[in-house]
Formats: sequence, C-alpha cells, structure tokens
Amino acid sequence: MNNVAQHKKVLITGGAGFIGSHLCEALLARGSEVLAVDNYYTGTRRNVAGYIGNPMFELMRHDVTFPLYVEVDQIYNLACPASPVHYQRDPVQTTKTSVHGAINMLGLAKRTGATILQASTSEVYGDPEEHPQSESYWGNVNPIGPRSCYDEGKRCAETLFFDYNRQHQLPIKVARIFNTYGPRMHPNDGRVVSNFIVQALQGNPITIYGTGKQTRSFCYVADLVDALIRLMNSDEEVTGPINLGNPTEQTIVSLAETIIEMTGTGSSIAYKPAPPDDPYMRQPDISLARDTLKWEPSTTVAEGLRKTIDYFDDLLTRQSGGDRLQ
Ligand code: NAD
Ligand code: UDP
Repeated sequence: MNNVAQHKKVLITGGAGFIGSHLCEALLARGSEVLAVDNYYTGTRRNVAGYIGNPMFELMRHDVTFPLYVEVDQIYNLACPASPVHYQRDPVQTTKTSVHGAINMLGLAKRTGATILQASTSEVYGDPEEHPQSESYWGNVNPIGPRSCYDEGKRCAETLFFDYNRQHQLPIKVARIFNTYGPRMHPNDGRVVSNFIVQALQGNPITIYGTGKQTRSFCYVADLVDALIRLMNSDEEVTGPINLGNPTEQTIVSLAETIIEMTGTGSSIAYKPAPPDDPYMRQPDISLARDTLKWEPSTTVAEGLRKTIDYFDDLLTRQSGGDRLQ
C-alpha cells in the first residue's frame, strides 16, 4: 500500500468526522494533497486539528447538499451522520445528504474526471434474512421506518453511483462499510462501542437495548481506512459494491462483558427497549475484499478496544480537568 495514493489531489467529504479524519491522516502520510469538506454536523475541527498548518491539507466548511467546484483527482464521499441517534435527529436532511450529496459529488467527479468512492453501509441489507451478508444479497429494508432515511438514502446513492457509471462511464467504487469503531468517535455519538466505553469509564450503567442477543461485527478504524484506500486505487473495473468489515461476530451482551472486564468498571447492566427495526444479526462475508483487494482486517477486537478505551479515558480525564473519578 505504500505509494499508491501519492501526488493525488484528494477530496474527502465528511473529512472532519470519525472515519474521515483517520482517512485524512492516512492519505497525508502517503503524500496526497487532501481537501476535507464538512458542515460539522457530527464532525469537529478538533478531529483534524493535528493537520492544520500542513501545506498538503485544507479544511473547508461546506454542506454537500450544495454544489462544490474544486479540482481533484479522487473523491471519498463520506459525508453523512452514521449513528442512528444523529441520523434520526433530522431525517429529511439525512436523506438529502445522501441523495443530493451523491448527485453533487458525482457531478463534480464527472466534470473533473475524478474517481469517486461512496461510503455505503451494511444498512443496505436492513434486517438481513441472509447470514453472513454477501454483496449479492439485495437486503430487507423497511422503506418507511425511522432508519429508512439512512438506509434508503444510502441505497439511492448506490443507484446513482451505478447509473453514473453506466450512463457516463464514471469510475466509481462503492464500499459497504460494516460497524467501525476507534478513537475519535464522538463520546455522545450514541453508537454501541462509544456508549459502552464511556458508560464504563464513568461508572454509569451499561445500556443494552433489547435482549442483547443481537449481533454485530466490529472493525477497527485503521483496518477500514486501509481497505478504503486499496479500493480507491484498485483497477477501474473494480467498482464494488464490496463489503468492508471485520467478520468476527459477537452479541451485544458479550461486547458489554468484554468492556466491563477491560475497563475494570463497577458498572451494572441496564436493559432498555430495543429500537424499532434494529437488525438482529450482522456479519460481513468479505471473500470479495480478500480476493480483489488482498485485504482483511488485522486488528483483533481486544487490541482495537484497548486503543479505543485508552482514547476515551484520556479524553474524559482532560474534559474533567484531570480529576475524574472512576
Ligand atoms: P461521522 O458522523 O463521524 O462522520 C460523518 C461526517 O460527515 C461528519 O464530520 C459530519 O459533520 C459530516 N456531514 C454530515 N452531513 C454533512 C453534509 N450535509 N455536508 C458535509 N458534511 C456532512 O460518521 P463516520 O462513522 O465517520 O461515518 C463516515 C461515513 O461512513 C458515513 O457516510 C457513514 O454512513 C459511513 N459508514 C460508517 C460506519 C461506521 O460504523 N462508522 C458504518 C457504515 C457506513
Ligand atoms: N445498542 C445497545 N446499547 C447502546 C447502543 C446501541 O444495546 O447503548 C445496540 C443497538 O440496539 C444495536 C447495536 O447495539 O443492536 C449496535 O448499535 P449501533 O447504534 O452502534 O449501530 P447499528 O445499529 O447501526 O449497527
């Protein structure tokens, strides 16, 4: 992976978000010129503060539902809130971000001749009836529920990507990203890994929604970013959709137990009602990524959780002025 992305002008939408900020870092390290655009809906300038001042990095406040005129060679389209709590807060804006955002970025790619990668999601499989999920599965998505703004927005973005590819021969890459975690997730993000870690570090009850027997498969962010860069720089005929995630599946209860053990917290477990349409199981089949990108995750869940716990521990300590009680 060393020099593949060198000397390219790369646009990252959602560049101040969790995954976007790690992608900025990885591309800068590979010698690319990086333009991050973000409307700071869930992302923050703090996430990219370390690169400001680097002449190869530029940060621009911009909402992708409006057109953007810049000159670039590659576009990673990551702009979209990813946590159910955040994407359901303003569902109309979530659909607009996915659909109008895709149209605007595809238009930009068409004008500049850039290769464009879409951060799609395992949510296109909805509450899956096939397990594990492979790319050939069409999914089981509720079109009118509270998750639909995200799921259907991302499905429509995939449609737009493939139509621009067929109609305009645009070089496209569609990544179906499964649950990803790591440092720089927002502490109030609402997703399960950050919730459990923050609750454990603060000694608050760990909130399990539903029975906790539902499963997810968690990928460490550095592995995911490596896969995104490989996909972007793959041969033109490799369009995806391609699953990117860690196939190690676990129940939510077992994640809670692991985090309780790793943090040494005295937190109890509090069971809460399951949110509507919460997928019961999720595990990526990554055969295609293994074959095409020669990629598979290398960070174990224990290693990834250790780094994430250390990050939140440090963050919470700094936020409380160094005297946080555990
Ligand atoms: P995040 O919420 O941390 O990042 C999203 C970024 O997009 C934020 O910086 C936000 O401010 C920005 N944004 C939102 N709406 C925007 C708009 N209209 N214009 C410009 N910027 C906008 O989430 P993340 O986890 O980093 O996710 C990044 C991408 O990856 C998203 O597209 C998400 O759907 C996708 N994804 C993430 C996961 C995951 O587990 N993290 C899983 C599947 C897909
Ligand atoms: N979840 C939970 N407690 C929390 C947050 C989430 O039990 O505090 C559950 C949630 O209901 C889901 C799983 O954990 O079954 C993953 O939720 P998350 O929001 O992280 O991602 P997604 O549902 O989009 O995969």
